[in-house]
Amino acid sequence: MTTHRADPVAPAEGVMTDAERSALRDHLEADIRRLRRTVAGAAAEQERRAREHEDGRGDESDISAYRSGIGQDVSLAEHAAMLLARNEHALGRLADGSYEQCENCGHQIGTQRLLALPRATLCMGCQRGCDAPTGPTRRTRRPRRTQSLRSV
Ligand SMILES: [Zn+2]
Repeated sequence: MTTHRADPVAPAEGVMTDAERSALRDHLEADIRRLRRTVAGAAAEQERRAREHEDGRGDESDISAYRSGIGQDVSLAEHAAMLLARNEHALGRLADGSYEQCENCGHQIGTQRLLALPRATLCMGCQRGCDAPTGPTRRTRRPRRTQSLRSV
């Protein structure tokens, strides 16, 4: 195998093939279908629990089980709804051609990163900035001066 190095311009890391793009679209669409089922399922389950609760003459433990059940449904549904929104956003970006661009700095996000994280909207550098709230802007602690010299 010989590596052809005569290419004047190496293919940019961000350039995505049509096959990769359509694979990502398929992935996002499948994920959206799955998440919609999750959201609908959690809502139905919550309704069922609420009905059961109204019917039942539950004792203490039933009531707390009911409450924690509702909590689970809500957080599951909220999480799924959040992912759903991000998937739909990514799909919209795929459709309008901005999918491979960082929403923050406009640079290429990179095909490898998008294949690994199809919902990514930020390039690696911007993501790092987001992930590190105490990053470069962090204030350095002023060294404290010794108040007074020790008297003898
Ligand atoms: Zn960026």
